[in-house]
Amino acid sequence: NKRVKIKALLAQSPIGETATLMGWVRTKRGNKNVSFIALNDGSTITNYQIVADPNLIPDDILKKCTTGSCIKVTGKVVESQGSGQSSELNAEKIEVLGEADPEKYPLQPKKHSLEFLREIAHLRMRTNTFSAVFRVRHALAFAVNKYFNDKGFFYIHTPIITASDAEGAGETFKVTTLDLQNPPKNEDGSINFNEDFFEREANLTVSGQLEGELAAMALSEIYTFGPTFRAENSNTTRHLAEFWMIEPEMAFYDAEDNADLAEDFLKYLIRYVLEHCQDDLAFLENRLLEEEKVKPADQRSEMALLEKLRFVAENEFVRITYTESIEILRNSKPNKKKKFQFLIDEWGADLQSEHERYLVEKHFNKPVILTDYPKEIKSFYMRQNEDGRTVAAMDILFPGIGEIVGGSQREERLDVLTARMDEMNIPKEEMWWFLDTRRFGSTPHAGFGLGFERMVQFVTGMGNIRDVIAFPRTPGNAEF
Ligand code: ATP
Ligand code: MG
Ligand code: MG
Ligand code: MG
Repeated sequence: NKRVKIKALLAQSPIGETATLMGWVRTKRGNKNVSFIALNDGSTITNYQIVADPNLIPDDILKKCTTGSCIKVTGKVVESQGSGQSSELNAEKIEVLGEADPEKYPLQPKKHSLEFLREIAHLRMRTNTFSAVFRVRHALAFAVNKYFNDKGFFYIHTPIITASDAEGAGETFKVTTLDLQNPPKNEDGSINFNEDFFEREANLTVSGQLEGELAAMALSEIYTFGPTFRAENSNTTRHLAEFWMIEPEMAFYDAEDNADLAEDFLKYLIRYVLEHCQDDLAFLENRLLEEEKVKPADQRSEMALLEKLRFVAENEFVRITYTESIEILRNSKPNKKKKFQFLIDEWGADLQSEHERYLVEKHFNKPVILTDYPKEIKSFYMRQNEDGRTVAAMDILFPGIGEIVGGSQREERLDVLTARMDEMNIPKEEMWWFLDTRRFGSTPHAGFGLGFERMVQFVTGMGNIRDVIAFPRTPGNAEF
């Protein structure tokens, strides 16, 4: 078909030429002498103005051009009378491809709440807000691949179905073909997984890291970018049961190299969208500003979206150790309303999101790279520091988000690693393949995981992680 996309048409605005557009009607207004249709085809945030003269377009056709209907319009590109847009289309022919009964179509031309739109996630991409979010999400995904490709990293597709639980957090979804109502049993009454499809227990991956380490020990610098699954019980604004993670893994990197790469990568992604998604980001910024107006003054965020993105892209992240962060939190004055739950002698506790946000948003007012956590609260594979009580872990904390990256230098010493696995009761026999990397040609290496949706949240300013993935999976939510 010879249709032109609205984005391309706006870029060229070939005045006087004939063009065919296809898209969905956002609004129709006018009087008996003329109708104005705002058309959107998803290519850009802008709704293109169609001018329909009832002498040319039959009345029964115009009547069907209601909000949500899909139409094909052919007409002449003319200079726009109204402000803002360079051109508009004088319709010569309109074909209604798909009607949308105004009595039943849920998306009427008014502002719907995000909560309401979550209930109709199958249609919400037709709104300005969600189409903007998903265009930005696309740009970010593209930038991820571009960044690593340009640096000579290789994209490895690690398995979705695995037998390992890298994080050991017990949040795995099981994969089985057994009839669990009536499973085959061992003599002691336990389920006999030998009769299962994989002849063992299996689950959906919670992280591609362990397999990524195997690849880094062969290709030097790799990354994975795929879906991960965690049966998170927490109903928060930053946890999904199915989310996408970017996990670079690099041989010959130490903890500092790892932090340098992560900081450079995050800044690159932000610069990329600032450059390539200007319209969508401007729209999202205005949307947030509108929202802020209805908040009490002390709850308004200080920086508007674009300013915040530029600030993070241009300024050095703060780097401090976990121990230093505890000192800061101990000496912090809890604000009047919220009491800090951090007790003085709690070195060793994991930071809660309110602590993370205090450090980032109140104390430093910058992204923070927090390193060297107590080994007790981190995974078995992280490299132990000389002090015997911390590991070379790194979390990156972002304003408004909290933890956006988790990573570490990995323990490359076979004896230290196996001793730690014993302490943590991790069965070494089952991880023989992982330990082989340390048995044969081991070398210092490091990596991290960036939660892709948290990055999309940060860049778009969306408050709830359910609003940056097309079809969110959360407890009780898997219908569409
Ligand atoms: P959190 O403390 O927020 O639960 P985590 O420490 O369990 O995160 P990691 O195992 O370190 O997460 O995973 C690496 C990154 O993946 C995190 O920094 C975060 O950006 C992202 N992430 C982790 N869990 C989720 C989730 N359930 N939904 C969305 N993103 C997640
Ligand atoms: Mg978690
Ligand atoms: Mg964490
Ligand atoms: Mg983490």
